[in-house]
Amino acid sequence: MAWFTCTICWPLVYASKFGGQRMKHLVKLAVAASMLFAASASAQTTTPFPASVEASIQSVLPRMIAWRRDFHEHPELSYEEVRTSRVVAAHLRSLRLEVRTGVAQTGVVGVLRGGRPGPVIALRADMDALPVTEEGDLPFRSRARGHYNGQDVGIMHACGHDTHVAVLMAAATVLASQREQLAGAVIFVFQPSEEGAPPGGLGGARRMLAENVFGDLQPEAIYGLHAWPQASGTVTMISGPMMAGSDRIDITVTGSQTHGAQPHAGIDPIVASSQIINALQTVPSRQMDAVGSPVIVTIGMIQGGVRYNIIPQTVQMQGTLRYLNPETRERFYERIRRTITETAAATGATAEVTITENAIPTVNPPELMARTRAAVTRALGEDHVLNGQPVMPAEDFAYFQQAVPGIFFFYGVNPPGVTQAEAAPNHNPRFFAHEPAMETALRAMLAVTLDRVGGNTQS
Ligand SMILES: [Zn+2]
Ligand SMILES: [Zn+2]
Repeated sequence: MAWFTCTICWPLVYASKFGGQRMKHLVKLAVAASMLFAASASAQTTTPFPASVEASIQSVLPRMIAWRRDFHEHPELSYEEVRTSRVVAAHLRSLRLEVRTGVAQTGVVGVLRGGRPGPVIALRADMDALPVTEEGDLPFRSRARGHYNGQDVGIMHACGHDTHVAVLMAAATVLASQREQLAGAVIFVFQPSEEGAPPGGLGGARRMLAENVFGDLQPEAIYGLHAWPQASGTVTMISGPMMAGSDRIDITVTGSQTHGAQPHAGIDPIVASSQIINALQTVPSRQMDAVGSPVIVTIGMIQGGVRYNIIPQTVQMQGTLRYLNPETRERFYERIRRTITETAAATGATAEVTITENAIPTVNPPELMARTRAAVTRALGEDHVLNGQPVMPAEDFAYFQQAVPGIFFFYGVNPPGVTQAEAAPNHNPRFFAHEPAMETALRAMLAVTLDRVGGNTQS
């Protein structure tokens, strides 16, 4: 790919810790590099794609970058992706796709039917941003603000979903240009609300499925990708469990209110809670198989008491539970409940535990992964397709995988010279996606699609 060998840009960029002054220079240089990349893209010498596909890729690259910057500057929170879905729908209509809007409130679905019969596949991008105030001085940085959980918040594409949307719009553009040659159909799924379900409601993937996202078509496979702090120009393909199941836990510990100087006259739920928090850490470290069933217990919120010399009646805690192996979920939760209620009982308190499903694990079926990996390797070259370890963040793409065989993979977005340890992680106010990496994501998406519905476009 052109930018892999862009010797003008790369020496300008040097390794740096994120968050510091040097990162500011790095980001500026990376933006400059991506502008140069747009100009130098035509320097490409080899491609696994037929000439007409390659020409379409080259022509869409500058627009893909422009779309991404526009979305980055105008981020929208979960189920508020009104502007984003309007831009997406208008573009899909301009490509003469069959477009449905309002699927799961702000979701958009586009269908491209090829000139010949063949399989149906689906490609998915998530559209929502996060309640994060962007730091740094990108020329297209977000100044957007909104309301979240009753608070006034900054809004930022701190998870790279702006790039996912732009890449899928670009893929739709290229594939639409090949319409007559395609054998089958492609469903483009632009999903709202990936970042977490609203209280009592469904997240975007589950809601789209509940609202018949695929219509009367039945896809044979669905593919999705995610920006990830790894080397730009690479994709990471993980067979089997890839991302964790993630559920929310709410705990109420009830004691008996008393004077701070007369604890024996009551039951202290604060002391009970501190023992519960510590005891919970023995679930991963002492009660579950560390290799066969990696799990995480994190208590992220604790609230109790109103005054320094009153032992309160109750303490509330909230946390997240993560697990990779779906088969051990019930055992994990049985041990969580037992540890909480019996630790509370030992202090004389009681504990009520509620676990709410948030996302199931993202698991890539090995056979489909082998085929996908081969197609992406043909497009990118072996050096650009990495193996990886599963990670404990979650992704509601997993629900699409429940309905349709599906593959999810990462594409690296670190600026050249920045290691994974140095890069700002997803959800950080300095999360930064190096734009030339989007070309890799686009090529990977086109490769997996043309592998299924390529028809006459197959080289
Ligand atoms: Zn994300
Ligand atoms: Zn995220």
